[in-house]
Amino acid sequence: MSKECSKCKKNPSIYLRQYSGEFLCKKCFIKSIEYKAKKTISKYSMIRHGDTVAVAVSGGKDSLVLLNVLKNTLASQDSQLVAITVDEGIRGYRDESLSIVKNFCASIGVENRIMSFSELFGLSMDKAMEVRPSEKISSCSMCGTFRRRALDLLAESCGANVVATGHNLDDYVQTFLINLFAGDVERIGWTYPEPVEYGITELRKIKPLMEIYEREIVLYAIHTNIPFQSEECPYKDESIRSAFRNHLNNLEKIHPGIKYNAYSSILKIAKKVKTASSLNTLDVNHGVQQEHKRCIICNRDSSNTVCSVCRTLDLLVKKT
Ligand code: SF4
Ligand code: ZN
Repeated sequence: MSKECSKCKKNPSIYLRQYSGEFLCKKCFIKSIEYKAKKTISKYSMIRHGDTVAVAVSGGKDSLVLLNVLKNTLASQDSQLVAITVDEGIRGYRDESLSIVKNFCASIGVENRIMSFSELFGLSMDKAMEVRPSEKISSCSMCGTFRRRALDLLAESCGANVVATGHNLDDYVQTFLINLFAGDVERIGWTYPEPVEYGITELRKIKPLMEIYEREIVLYAIHTNIPFQSEECPYKDESIRSAFRNHLNNLEKIHPGIKYNAYSSILKIAKKVKTASSLNTLDVNHGVQQEHKRCIICNRDSSNTVCSVCRTLDLLVKKT
């Protein structure tokens, strides 16, 4: 017989939250996930009254759970929600997820806007893979560069001022390790969750699920009957992220809660790096905040003369 729920002390539990020792019934588990997301949103002032939030929804578990959680938690606020979806143009893979997103959005009454790489950049991912000049230009880095820009454009086209993505706690810890091992200290500061407005339209990027384990997101999706795509993208590269993911999962099995401890420490490091970087910028500019640089080709924000999207496009277009 299953243990009774540690919260309501009434229903049989369906889940043991290893890191806290709590047994949770289905209802209390679902409530706990929505509460956690709500707490993260308010802790970092991610969403304010009157915001229009564009939720990046791909059809995978994280993004659909995020949309559902936001729909439930923002119901009492005067914030608008719209689901934005990027069609990368991956035959056989994206088609299935697009229909999952469309049906799910219709079922919860949220508008879904889609834009494709072909429309925005003149070529699909299938084409980009065909014409890339070298395998050193990895599929996921190309795709990620284009997707980030596509999400900004989509959000702007909906009049949104916030873009929400479904990154979870596991993603956050992995990203820290990737930056650490790449020696990219400045990027660690960028990951601090307090949203900053950027770009011409001053979009705010937020990650409301960043304090929730990936495993619990899957469980939430299952218990709330959210259909999600489980098939893997044919271009997924076996990056160092997968290695960190497996290693962290193995550690968590032996030491429950270790991922959460790592997350808490990383937050403190990221805050310090962010503060140090902004002080340095002020120092170099004698107390005057540095002006935003723009890409000379597309005129969007860029830390270099030509942004990563235009640089990648240039490499690909030369080959077409
Ligand atoms: Fe793009 Fe890589 Fe994701 Fe496939 S796995 S959709 S190539 S980022
Ligand atoms: Zn550019």
